[in-house]
Amino acid sequence: ERLKQGLTKAKQGITDKIDNVLNMYTKVDEELLEDLEEILITADVGVNTTMNIIDQLRNRIKQKGITDPMDVRVELKNIVENILDNDNAKLDVEKSPSIILMVGVNGVGKTTTIGKLANRYKSEGKKVLLAAGDTFRAAAIEQLEVWAQRSNVDIIKHQEGADPGAVVYDAIKAAKARNVDLLICDTAGRLHNKANLMNELGKVFKIVDREFPEAKREVLLVVDATTGQNAVSQAKTFKEVADITGIVLTKLDGTAKGGVVLAVKSEVDVPVKLIGVGEKVEDLQDFDAKAFSDALFG
Ligand code: GDP
Repeated sequence: ERLKQGLTKAKQGITDKIDNVLNMYTKVDEELLEDLEEILITADVGVNTTMNIIDQLRNRIKQKGITDPMDVRVELKNIVENILDNDNAKLDVEKSPSIILMVGVNGVGKTTTIGKLANRYKSEGKKVLLAAGDTFRAAAIEQLEVWAQRSNVDIIKHQEGADPGAVVYDAIKAAKARNVDLLICDTAGRLHNKANLMNELGKVFKIVDREFPEAKREVLLVVDATTGQNAVSQAKTFKEVADITGIVLTKLDGTAKGGVVLAVKSEVDVPVKLIGVGEKVEDLQDFDAKAFSDALFG
């Protein structure tokens, strides 16, 4: 299926390499663990998370008296699954009205993700409205319009350079007047510095607090899996300036370093709720720890 297909590169970059190493060894020793450690670090799992995994693995090997390298694979998969597992990690927009605020820097796939979400919920029969809150780039507004047309949903937009807060304000008014089930707001992705980001996002959040308190809110941070540890540091920065309720990890199909999912999971403490495994509408998936590790290790 799509998930397996989307994770082909990641599988090559992680599991195939792991299998190669395991096949080379006849016994389980520190050298083997060192080889595995190197693979994980190369796959962007991150140093801390890699150390954690290897420590757990070492303990299990000792406790269970594992001597066959192939049995190490089972333990490794299980440890990975445990790290990825997270309760209530599903996107929750079932209540009407709901609002999704999308945040993230330019180029990570924010617009594409909004388009995919609009399409998903529209085809589920919800009334969806988009707000072009990234007013700093004319291209962002135009691109969102294309997605709106494609999914046949309405969009609220202002001119380039307009106040993002005003766009969101108008969109909330429209959402109420039109009995919209789900309002999805784009925001500007400029990350000059933390104070600036806090200021820009703060204005938008304040308007949502004031004008739309009845709406169930999701704040989704979009990060690009191909940027590796950058994705992790972006997540940490945004988490400091906004109440992020979930992370969207895009472009997982484009990287052999799928380990970034593990790094985000264990170092950021915000659930990964969605993953992007391609450019098409159907390539946005709910993150499922079991399905993910099955696709990766299967
Ligand atoms: P934005 O600047 O954050 O709004 O980014 P865009 O939505 O414009 O996306 C930037 C590029 O990434 C576009 O070419 C998208 O088609 C592409 N993209 C977004 N998500 C994915 C994904 O999950 N997989 C792949 N392969 N490409 C993606």
